[in-house]
Amino acid sequence: MVEGIYVQGEWVRSATDGTREIRCPADSSHVRDVVEGTSEHVDAAVAAARAAFDDGAWSTSSPLERGRILHRVADLLERDKAAVARAETLDTGKRLVESEYDVDDVVGVFRHYGNLAGENAGRVVETGRSDVVSRVVTEPVGVCALITPWNYPLLQTSWKVAPAIAAGCTFVLKPSELSPSTAILLMDLLTEAGVPAGVANLVTGTGQDVGVPMVADPRVDLVSFTGSLAAGRSIMASASDTVKKVALELGGKNPNVVFADADLESALDMATTAVFLHSGQVCSAGARLIVEESIHDFFVDEVVRRAGLIVVGGPFDDAAETGALISATHLAKVEDYVAAGLAEGAVLRCGGARPDDAALADGFFYLPTVLDGCRTDMSVVQEESFGPVLTVETFRDEDEAVRLANDSIYGLAGAVWTQDAGKGQRVAGRLRMGTVWINDFHPYVPQAEWGGYKQSGNGRELGHHGLAEYTETKHVWHNIAPAPQRWFPSSERPDPRAGAATTPQEA
Ligand code: NAD
Repeated sequence: MVEGIYVQGEWVRSATDGTREIRCPADSSHVRDVVEGTSEHVDAAVAAARAAFDDGAWSTSSPLERGRILHRVADLLERDKAAVARAETLDTGKRLVESEYDVDDVVGVFRHYGNLAGENAGRVVETGRSDVVSRVVTEPVGVCALITPWNYPLLQTSWKVAPAIAAGCTFVLKPSELSPSTAILLMDLLTEAGVPAGVANLVTGTGQDVGVPMVADPRVDLVSFTGSLAAGRSIMASASDTVKKVALELGGKNPNVVFADADLESALDMATTAVFLHSGQVCSAGARLIVEESIHDFFVDEVVRRAGLIVVGGPFDDAAETGALISATHLAKVEDYVAAGLAEGAVLRCGGARPDDAALADGFFYLPTVLDGCRTDMSVVQEESFGPVLTVETFRDEDEAVRLANDSIYGLAGAVWTQDAGKGQRVAGRLRMGTVWINDFHPYVPQAEWGGYKQSGNGRELGHHGLAEYTETKHVWHNIAPAPQRWFPSSERPDPRAGAATTPQEA
């Protein structure tokens, strides 16, 4: 069966539905066909999610039960890890071992929110009045539109689906049209774990045909979006028509600041991992190396030497260390950024081309690339190429390092390398980013918030805040001993034209 539309606990497909071919970016082989969703599919899925929420059974269900379901999802993902990882790899072209790590991370996210469900019981507020109980409670925000990208398809999905379930929300999920397979697998696992029909719905398809009507739909209460800055801007504008809540996780152009007093062996090791992991298709990729001038030549020579040795290859090739880009279009975009950088004066130190290997000719591969002599005004430094492209800038002192690192419209993540703990903390404090690593790059844990400053987004995923995104806050004021206030004393005077008023209870 060709899947893609999951509504009210069932896969649905009509004879008139169009389909899309999913092909593996590593060799263009056929992976599967999925339904190409339309606004009609969105209409049906949102209606199901709305009805399931308004029914109240799910939104007021025991948080312990929702937590149990989330742990069950984690168990099922562990059971099906091999199949899920394989599906992720076929859609994205990433190495199988990386997809396996991703599934482990996804399991951790479901367990984290399984533990947090029901943890936020609200609070009682002191009013100074013994006749009043004043409580601040949280409630599920309602119907959520969850829109995800292709680079970490299931992981980004879990950051949204797990807290939505923990909070008692219902949702419509739209994965990237390039990588829908693990979202399809997840729907069946959610149902198997006990998520009731109508709570979790899926519509595959493009941003225009599916994402746009999801965002515009007045029955949707929250849009949680992970993707590009351009799409995020358009989503924020569209959501303003219905003043719905919007949580945006957008792009980054992340600085990796290396001081001369760093542990250079570790800094070198991570400088390559920071940018070339998953061929640079990581929102927090350390694509801007900002290195202290006194160690520039040694450091960059060594980065270039190491980048040139990274083995590019297919996802099931055990020798391969990094894989393909997601599509021909994306490969062309990366090539354009490198060409623009060179035209603006950057110096190509390695890469800058597709690999010269006939076995990789049907995939979208690009060699790890280092551009030296870069300036912050270059487009390849300012904009997200989202490919295996490292730009190099230099600084002379701490102030200049901070100024360069912050010179970006983005503020997702960054790192500082130094063995001076005070300097590390000082610089971390001055970087305007949602995540700062000191002497490391890339690690995250589901217990800690993730998200962007500036145009890298708003709101936070993961941690406690990642659950709060899926809740509304309500103040409940309970006067337990009501008595007349006599605010308008004049209204208490007897009316000479009428007899004394009687309440229904007295009548
Ligand atoms: P994209 O913006 O092209 O697409 C993301 C998703 O949005 C897809 O499902 C797409 O179909 C949909 N979409 C596109 N336009 C839309 C619109 N106008 N309305 C509604 N939906 C729309 O991004 P991408 O190329 O899939 O992903 C790469 C981007 O995601 C990069 O910019 C990367 O930095 C970012 N990203 C950010 C994070 C983070 O945590 N901040 C994590 C992963 C990826």
